[in-house]
Amino acid sequence: MAHASLLYITLGCAKNEVDTDRMRSLLNGAGYEEVFEAADADAVIINTCSFLASATSESIETTLALAEDVADGVRDTRIVMCGCVPSRYGDELPEELPEVAAFVRTDEEDGIVAVMDEVLGIERDSLPFIPTVKRTVESAVAYVKISDGCDRFCSFCAIPYIRGRYNSRTAESILAEVRDLVAGGVREIVLIGQDTGIWGSDFTGEVEGPANLAQLMVAVAEAVRPHHVWVRVLYLQPEGMTDELVAAIRDTPEILPYIDIPVQHCNARILKAMHRSGSTEELSKLFATLRSQIPGMVIRTTSLVGFPGETDEEAEEMLAFMDREGFDYTSVFPYSPEEGTRAAKMEGQVPEDIKLERTQAAMDLAESLGFAATAARVGEVAEVIVDGIEETDEGPELIGHAWFQAPDSDGAVHLEVSEAAVGDILKVRFTDSFCYELVGEVVEE
Ligand code: SF4
Repeated sequence: MAHASLLYITLGCAKNEVDTDRMRSLLNGAGYEEVFEAADADAVIINTCSFLASATSESIETTLALAEDVADGVRDTRIVMCGCVPSRYGDELPEELPEVAAFVRTDEEDGIVAVMDEVLGIERDSLPFIPTVKRTVESAVAYVKISDGCDRFCSFCAIPYIRGRYNSRTAESILAEVRDLVAGGVREIVLIGQDTGIWGSDFTGEVEGPANLAQLMVAVAEAVRPHHVWVRVLYLQPEGMTDELVAAIRDTPEILPYIDIPVQHCNARILKAMHRSGSTEELSKLFATLRSQIPGMVIRTTSLVGFPGETDEEAEEMLAFMDREGFDYTSVFPYSPEEGTRAAKMEGQVPEDIKLERTQAAMDLAESLGFAATAARVGEVAEVIVDGIEETDEGPELIGHAWFQAPDSDGAVHLEVSEAAVGDILKVRFTDSFCYELVGEVVEE
């Protein structure tokens, strides 16, 4: 068995957290020990993000800062870079970053034990057999990846080139992981992927059990049913909203009526240039259907501002659409030309100052809608999952999230410290709000 110690650093989204967790599990099984300071580590594994140019820069800067600390010399810590940056820039990296001992692409991460053994000069007769990957989630919420890759090839996005083609995980392995997590005390399962709505579409032959996302979510709900666990799905492209899925969300108590649909834009011409589909009318119809079928449904979306060729009128059209739809949460991103994508070569790149102006207007609107939706919750009573305790100027307070707040993305609920522990589900009355945050008090059962 190896006795080397490893520090894990994860950058980027929840999908990367899951990948790190998987590598950690394999390495723990092979005898590696986790530490939490670089000074204590024989090697540092940096799981990188390259979704946007800014994320790539952050990944490189984090790696170089670490290399500098190592060069200053507490100990001879080796650096291993994993994930999206090696997947995107693999061939160029060894020359550009000689400080890094090994590069591991996303599709090579299951071989992490052999890589670390080689980097650290650990010899063994054979690699250990690790039959099931054990997640090491210690929080109340667990992300479960149901697919990887993406087939949509939106013209602005590098993900399909980084993560490869769409690949659904089997229902069997997803359900086994869910059962395991729930047995370990997890209170919310969040299903993620680049494009969750088409889960199962790449299965060939006869499929036993769930064959699409609606059926998978119902199966997940059944698996968690005795344990009072919430089930949420994120990253549903508009085309993934089938009648069957709407019915599953409406009729299955464990599945939260919270939908994350990244529309990016509403204008048909811009959507077409983005290699997406739809129009203002079609999207409005979709949201009207959702709201009529699932009253009180909470909707999160994403707006990409300043796509090449976007005119003032088209930017205004998107603002008017956001305003009409009154989204609960909107993430606003200014378009950035990503190397290797078609949009980066398009005519009509919007000047930075105009892009920033439009982005600010979209962010201001998103906030005013979101803050108002949050304030409207004051007076309501709802269940809240306790996520942790935070120190504030006024002393410690419990932090949790309600069903209408996706963990790590939306606001939180702040409560006076009581006897509650992480993972408890409390009944809370909301007494005040600020920005996307709510303040509450525990209501006796
Ligand atoms: S759906 Fe579009 S934006 Fe999302 S990961 Fe796939 S290509 Fe990128």
